[in-house]
Parts: sequence; C-alpha cells; structure tokens
Amino acid sequence: QSEDARAARIPRYVRVNTAVWTTDKAVKEFLSRGFELTGPFESKKGFARDQHIPDLLLFPPHTQFTDDPLYTAGKIILQDKASCFPAYILAPPAADDSVVIDATAAPGNKTSHLSALMRNRGKLFAFERDRKRFSTLTKMLAKAHCRNVEPINADFLTVSPEDPKYKDVTHILLDPSCSGSGIVNRLDYLLDAETQDAEEDRQRLDKLASFQLLMIRHAMKFPSVKGIVYSTCSVHAIENEHVVRQALRTEEALSGGFKLAPRGQILPQWGRRGISEEMNCPADAQSVVRCSPTEDATNGFFVSLFVKADKSENNAE
Ligand code: SAM
Repeated sequence: QSEDARAARIPRYVRVNTAVWTTDKAVKEFLSRGFELTGPFESKKGFARDQHIPDLLLFPPHTQFTDDPLYTAGKIILQDKASCFPAYILAPPAADDSVVIDATAAPGNKTSHLSALMRNRGKLFAFERDRKRFSTLTKMLAKAHCRNVEPINADFLTVSPEDPKYKDVTHILLDPSCSGSGIVNRLDYLLDAETQDAEEDRQRLDKLASFQLLMIRHAMKFPSVKGIVYSTCSVHAIENEHVVRQALRTEEALSGGFKLAPRGQILPQWGRRGISEEMNCPADAQSVVRCSPTEDATNGFFVSLFVKADKSENNAE
C-alpha cells in the first residue's frame, strides 16, 4: 500500500475544544450542515464520534476545515487521534489548585488539550525552547482560548525542580523531539538496515534517545510529581520501549519510586501495546501504548505513563 493510499484511509480527525464548546453541540452543528452519523468512510457527509477519545470526531479524509469559522474561532482543533492520547492519559485534574507542566509544548495541540481537560482551571506551565516555535505556541494558545496557561520560552532542562514556583507540579507531559518516523507521509524516516546511511541513522536515533531519557529523568526530579506521560511520534523501539526501560532503572526512578502505570490506567481498551521483547517483562509492554501507522488509521505513536508508587503501598508490603 502506498503512503498516499495509507493517508487516504486516515480520517480527518477533529477535536472539539471543550474550553469553549461541547461535543454534543458540535454533533448537532454538523448534523444541521447535512452530515450524518454513519462513519467517515460511508459517504462524503459521513462522520462519527471516536470510540476512545471522548471529544474527538472522525470525518472523511479530505474534508476541509482550515477555512471553517469553527476552526478559525478555535471551537475545533485539527489533531491526529494518536496525538490526543497523551493529554487524555495524563488526565490532569480540573481543580483550582492543579499545577501541571507541558515540557515541550509547541505548536501546542497537546497544551490546549491539557488546558481543556483542566477546564481552564489551575495552572499549566508550557515550556518551549525554540523562539520561533514559541511564537507559534502563543498564537495557538490564544486561538484555543487557553486562560490557565503560562507559556515560557525556555529549555525545560534548565528549569530547576527546586524552584518554589514548581513545587506543587503533580503532572508532567513530555512529548520531546523525536525522529518523527511514525508520521504518515514521512515513512521514509523508517530505519532501513540496507540503506547506506544505516549507521548514521542509528547514531541519530541513539542521540535522540539519550536526550529523551534525560528529559524523563529531569521530570522525575520535581518534588510533587505523581504522573509523567512520555510520548513520541516515532515507531522505533530505540526511542520508545528502550527509553522507558532505561528510565525505570535510573537513580531518579528508583529513589522516587516511579513505575509504569498498569494497563488498566492507560487506555485499557486500546489493543496495540508495547513490543514485549524490547521491554523488561510482558507486563511492562502491556503498560505502554503503541499506534501503528499502517494498521490503526493514525500516525505511528507511542505513549507511556510513569506514576509514583504510593508510599503507603510500599509500607504495606
Ligand atoms: N507537544 C507538541 C504538540 O502536540 O503540539 C509537539 C511537541 S514537538 C514533538 C517537540 C517540541 O519540543 C519542539 O517544539 C521542540 O522545539 C521542543 N523542545 C525540544 N527540547 C526541548 C527542551 N529541552 N525544552 C523545551 N522544549 C524543547
């Protein structure tokens, strides 16, 4: 199957921005425009609610929304299904004392998703180190009506976990730079052992993996953190299972009591899990989520959730 054919089988995903709208109202609006709830592949006017992400709608692949007033008003956000998993899985509380970090935020789709899940309450610090991308992020946040976000143009690795400003951070989303090998239409990034550049590719992935591991270790140092989502849009185990496996063995994880959330806490109804041979044990592989760019009608994606073991649990053992 060609990349174009594959892309044609991926619905146009539309996330309803619940900061300003509801999915019920969105469905009504699309029904009034002549759409029918028959599914995205039944006809040009078919659409559906997603079965995993509550505020996600599926439309036929070539449906245009970029000029739609709903899009320009920030009521809908065009976001791939897999890219909605991290914020949904992190599930930050919608409370006034909620404090959350998005460590690698631009262009900001996941930041605005976190903000909507928090119902614009509490505080969400959104870091982005690149100046140009930071400017895109701030525009995106304004368009998405995010009022609880403080965007910060800084390298997350330079942020001190001891800074009193971050002492109450309980949830961190880490979606760092990766090879992007899971992005449909960019499958040329896939490592091919037979290419002349295999060694170079391998070095590039190793370098990315070292950086990704560093980011997780840094996130684990925040004193009140209870949950860390680590995600990539890569299909390579080097950036996914291997990074998670190593992270679990670090000083930060061992002293902080971090482990992977059990399958039941991380999209249990999603069938595709981690690659067992690439992790420490089958249970760990079950604790992470993968999306296949060829089989799941999404981009290739990986999500894991580190949680801090409850101290009382340890005492009881
Ligand atoms: N989560 C974003 C979204 O859904 O829109 C996409 C994030 S993109 C995969 C990774 C971003 O992290 C890039 O914009 C990159 O510039 C930024 N980044 C990489 N390393 C960083 C660091 N150490 N601190 C802050 N931002 C970083």
